[in-house]
Amino acid sequence: MEFTEPAMRPPQEAHSLLLRATQGCTYNACHFCYVSRGYPFMAVTAEQLEQEALAQKPFFPADTNIYLTGSNPFALPSATLRHYLAVLRRHFPLFRELSVQSRIDDIARKSLDELRELRHLGLAQLYIGVENGHDAVLSLMHKGYTAAQAVEQLQRLDEAGIAYTTFYVLGLGGKGMGRACAAATAAMLNQTHPRRITTTGMTIFPETPLADMVRQGQFTEASEREKIEELLAFLEDLTADTFYDGIHYLNPLNYRFANTNAADKRRVLDDIRDTLRTYSDEELELMVDRKQMRSL
Ligand code: SF4
Repeated sequence: MEFTEPAMRPPQEAHSLLLRATQGCTYNACHFCYVSRGYPFMAVTAEQLEQEALAQKPFFPADTNIYLTGSNPFALPSATLRHYLAVLRRHFPLFRELSVQSRIDDIARKSLDELRELRHLGLAQLYIGVENGHDAVLSLMHKGYTAAQAVEQLQRLDEAGIAYTTFYVLGLGGKGMGRACAAATAAMLNQTHPRRITTTGMTIFPETPLADMVRQGQFTEASEREKIEELLAFLEDLTADTFYDGIHYLNPLNYRFANTNAADKRRVLDDIRDTLRTYSDEELELMVDRKQMRSL
């Protein structure tokens, strides 16, 4: 069977060597999700990975970072990941970091020894859509885990030395839930050590269960103002030693700063407050053209 899903990568991996590992998602059941839907889960063979690595080798430095594309390649058995890492180490002996996407439950299925071994072999970072720390919202969106389970697995990554970038979706709880989601998500992530926290803004894509929930009156989208208020409340509560990276086309505002840099953080928070104070609701709604995305 052919791989047909377009490969995607996080913005932070723009300069990495990108190689396909999987298509589809082993879970494929989050109500808001528009990626991977309709693509059966498949993984490349080590031989396919090797062929692609060799084809791209002339264009990347010896110490390149490598990103294996796919919604959750970390669901693959450790033996398969070990095999991939061996192939990549053979052709890029000096590669710095290998990163892949993972679900929280993919981490839970690996023992601490397996996590440590994968780290030792070069798997240095996971991108994880934790999405939110509010249990009722995680349940509403059918994420398949609780905030406490997310904390437990992120702390296991800390123990194994695997870095992680977490995604948080502003507006995931819908209208009226912004502040509660901000408080719960900050409380969740303050117990962990993400290398980076990235936000995106909730967008309702057609052909998703969430679009049906909207039609049936089970979910009302938060306004852009509420999403920005959620971001502000989240950043105010965030105490983790981490980097906030909000540069993403689905965010109403785009900032990045080290959370421990008090001056930078104060400047960003002041700027967000200023935006909320000086822009009208109509102007804020124009900051991201979500309607256009809904018709993609
Ligand atoms: S785990 Fe990620 S890719 Fe899979 S269904 Fe959920 S949001 Fe989509």
